[in-house]
Amino acid sequence: MLSEIFRPVCASCGEDAPGGIFCTECAGNLRNLTTFCKTCGHPLNVEALVCGFCPTRRYDRLYTDLLYASPLKDLLKKIKFAYGVRGIFHLGGLIKQPDSIFLKYDVIAPVPSHYTRKLRRVMHPADVLAEYIAGISGKKAERLIVRRRKTGYQWKLKKKQRIRNVSGAFAVSGVCSGKKILIVDDIYTTGSTVNECAKVLKINGAELVDVYTLCCSGYY
Ligand SMILES: [Zn+2]
Ligand SMILES: [Zn+2]
Repeated sequence: MLSEIFRPVCASCGEDAPGGIFCTECAGNLRNLTTFCKTCGHPLNVEALVCGFCPTRRYDRLYTDLLYASPLKDLLKKIKFAYGVRGIFHLGGLIKQPDSIFLKYDVIAPVPSHYTRKLRRVMHPADVLAEYIAGISGKKAERLIVRRRKTGYQWKLKKKQRIRNVSGAFAVSGVCSGKKILIVDDIYTTGSTVNECAKVLKINGAELVDVYTLCCSGYY
């Protein structure tokens, strides 16, 4: 009886998902990002030496693994809006990057969620991913970036509004001078949030600021 009640189901289609968060079919539908800008790591339709994001980015390089599409989109929506607490423990297992890329950082810093939102969600995907990566790298996940003020939901906004929404929204809490820092978030959409985070880290003396997001909303 109990095993029926707690039967693990696929976060996307609701079918049985023994041992995972997706059933075999949905797991096979995860879409890996495969072509990137060689300079900044942004996903592109075709591989290129530089891209449109290169001139404006404040971080050094982006690493990202999957396209924000079903079934991953369903999982992240469940975690964010439907209190899908089980799914959050599976996020780290979806990372495709080789462990070696995570070894060079001094600090693994999650993008901070807003306090009130954090209470509602209990756990934040960026924190869980940062802890997972910290476990791989042997470094600490540290709340080095903090929110200075409440910001509206980014997903409701257009690109220019997103930039304005997060402008001046973050501050540094701790020493980042001379450090190599990896900012971690679940989704990269326009990049305005991680760019703003990278900006404050660099202003405060960070030597290197890279970004890891589990997924990206599309090719550009
Ligand atoms: Zn499924
Ligand atoms: Zn680029």
